[in-house]
Amino acid sequence: MRKKTIEDYVELIYILQNKDEKVHTNNIASALDINPASVTEIFQKLSDEGYIDYEKYSGVTLTQKGKKIAISTKKKHDTLKNFLTILGMDEKIANVDACKIEHVVNSETMERLTKFVEFVHQKKEGSKWVDHFKYFYETGEYVECNPLNEKKCPVHGSKQQ
Ligand SMILES: [Zn+2]
Repeated sequence: MRKKTIEDYVELIYILQNKDEKVHTNNIASALDINPASVTEIFQKLSDEGYIDYEKYSGVTLTQKGKKIAISTKKKHDTLKNFLTILGMDEKIANVDACKIEHVVNSETMERLTKFVEFVHQKKEGSKWVDHFKYFYETGEYVECNPLNEKKCPVHGSKQQ
């Protein structure tokens, strides 16, 4: 298994906090399936580096610095998930993979992907070429969409009748 990064922990704390849960050693330990003693160590490290405020008995809260990291990680996660979903991935796998890619992806790549997802989402009904890509994926057959006569398009034609 990939070693968990600061981003992972901060993101998880953020998600739990937004669910209105007090974040304690125990709920992090059970969410990640690790022992509470290691979580205490992690909390200490996150606290030393200024990502969380850590009180042994009242639990942890994200600092501004921690919150900033959490929000940007969450944003990357959502974009990656949307990107994979556009390609036709199942939502569950898209989620799992987004969680891994978000920690290693270059910010330049992320910028492109963000624009790409925005671009595809411009059209609420979905972009025609995305449907054609899915058709290509399933059949191996590359066909152009016929803008003048959609009925002749093997991908969109049947939807017209
Ligand atoms: Zn078409």
